[in-house]
Amino acid sequence: MPPTDFDAIVVGSGITGGWAAKELTELGLRTLVLEAGRPIVPERDYVEHKPPWEMPFRGLGDRRATASRQSIQSHSVSFDELSHVFWTDDVDNPYTTPADRPFYWFRARQVGGKSIIWGRQVYRWSDLDFEANLRDGIAVDWPIRYADLAPWYDHVERFIGVSGQAEGLSQLPDGPFLPAMAMNCVEQHVRERMAQKFGRERILTIGRVANLTQAHHGRAPCHYCGPCHRGCITRSYFSSINATLPAARATGRLTLRPFSIVRGLIYDKERNRIAGVRIVDAQTKAEREYTARVVFLCASALESARILLNSGIGNSSDQVGRNIMDHIKWGGASGGIDGWTDRREIGERPNGIYVPRFRNVSSRHPDFIRGYGFQGGADRDGWRASLHAPGIGPAFKARLNSLGPWSMTFEGFGEMLPRAENRAAIHPTLADAWGIPSLHIDCKWSDNELAIHRDMNVAAAELLEAAGARDIRPSTRGPSTPGGTNHEMGTARMGRDPKTSVLNGWNQSWDVPNLFVTDGAAMTSSGCQNPSLTYMALTARACHHAVEQLKRGEL
Ligand SMILES: Cc1cc2nc3c(=O)[nH]c(=O)nc-3n(C[C@H](O)[C@H](O)[C@H](O)COP(=O)(O)OP(=O)(O)OC[C@H]3O[C@@H](n4cnc5c(N)ncnc54)[C@H](O)[C@@H]3O)c2cc1C
Ligand code: SF4
Repeated sequence: MPPTDFDAIVVGSGITGGWAAKELTELGLRTLVLEAGRPIVPERDYVEHKPPWEMPFRGLGDRRATASRQSIQSHSVSFDELSHVFWTDDVDNPYTTPADRPFYWFRARQVGGKSIIWGRQVYRWSDLDFEANLRDGIAVDWPIRYADLAPWYDHVERFIGVSGQAEGLSQLPDGPFLPAMAMNCVEQHVRERMAQKFGRERILTIGRVANLTQAHHGRAPCHYCGPCHRGCITRSYFSSINATLPAARATGRLTLRPFSIVRGLIYDKERNRIAGVRIVDAQTKAEREYTARVVFLCASALESARILLNSGIGNSSDQVGRNIMDHIKWGGASGGIDGWTDRREIGERPNGIYVPRFRNVSSRHPDFIRGYGFQGGADRDGWRASLHAPGIGPAFKARLNSLGPWSMTFEGFGEMLPRAENRAAIHPTLADAWGIPSLHIDCKWSDNELAIHRDMNVAAAELLEAAGARDIRPSTRGPSTPGGTNHEMGTARMGRDPKTSVLNGWNQSWDVPNLFVTDGAAMTSSGCQNPSLTYMALTARACHHAVEQLKRGEL
């Protein structure tokens, strides 16, 4: 009979669960990781080098299967015929929204979670972010500041490997970077022209990305093949499968149980402690219980909130499920850049450029608080530009072989404010394929996000104008759908007061001290930077705190 009692239980094996597994096992705890999805074997499951001609639909996708089983997941730009196996089945895992307020809940149910398909952009927060709620009188104050997290950012970045360029900006602190990926000739040109026009106020830098530019902790450098969202057999980008879970396994103290859907927490009223968790086996539907001295919820922000709500635990503040945040997208602009037609790019750099936040940093914008950063890049029209053009014969082939002009694109990622009415609650009747009650998600942008979105078009056009671009085209797409930026967070926020927050400054439940929530649920505000680096740093910090408390007999 396999053991059912452990020192620690971690729910989820994605970005944060992988980190909790690594830290807790390395600190000496026998740790059980419960993962709802299937196991992943890189040699069998990764498909980044699979050519389209080996796919039944040549990489274009099985539209009928997608429409019937993955109608929500397929809205992601990273979803395709090769990568669709890493995304959740929407029929087995339903949720609802109000008819006029769609929310894209992108999920990845497998060992590794979304760490297999993520974009790997990693940016630190600064006190501009940690002090924002206090400064603006919004929601509640973060219980921590940058100084609390800085050593943990170092700790995480040193392990995952982040390539990037130090820029010395107060709003985007630097880290111990691996060599930066090179910018192409047009991106360098735009960087120089922006510097001439905007000085240090608006700078363009290469993206900070968890892809290796040199060998690192036994993992090989990236060979620029491109489709990282389909896996990476050389382990050149950070994922739980590629890095944290092997480190945890190496301690000999990890037990990983796939196909284990946690349906609820078991509460020991006498001790006011979580005694363990109840799971449903995804394959047999049998129920089991596991016990531990400490439990970490790392199931992703909305799933962790769902577990708490279904358990009726940790919600004395009535904040569980509230304050859903994402980042608003689809504002920006692109334009043509003349010249450099004798230059081409070699390989597929899995990274773009970044323009760190510049609004409301040193001066106040009249229309909104907070701000946004730009991602994007420059490229030359390639053969794909003629993909849908009519033609046949040698002249057509010659046209496919000749590259077109360069263009430059900026796409904004804007901060979303925490608002209690943006809320996920347990659906009164709907359940998933295993009978676990589902979520009803009600979330929309506020006027502040919409003002940020409008400003993205204006500022991106200004950057392109400074670069001497022609034919500048501001985005016409309108605001993205909430959830669509993949950055769900805020549903069990940290705070200073148990009456208004779910977690204390150590990601620890105010109500039940041996319960920790360290995924995006813990976020008190959203910043505008991609958030997963902050989740990882918070997770590592919380693990060390939990182990110290265990050693002192406080849990
Ligand atoms: C296409 C895409 C691009 C992205 N790009 C970036 C980026 O560039 N930078 C960035 O910072 N972030 C990015 N993200 C977001 C990033 O992936 C998430 O922030 C991150 O994965 C969250 O980590 P997590 O551990 O909370 O959740 P996940 O990585 O999703 O892991 C959660 C795990 O928990 C499991 N689970 C869920 N419920 C249960 C349950 N009841 N019982 C047991 N297990 C359960 C899931 O199966 C999953 O394996 C991107 C996401 C997507 C989809
Ligand atoms: S581009 Fe680099 S990190 Fe991405 S899959 Fe290819 S080798 Fe791996």
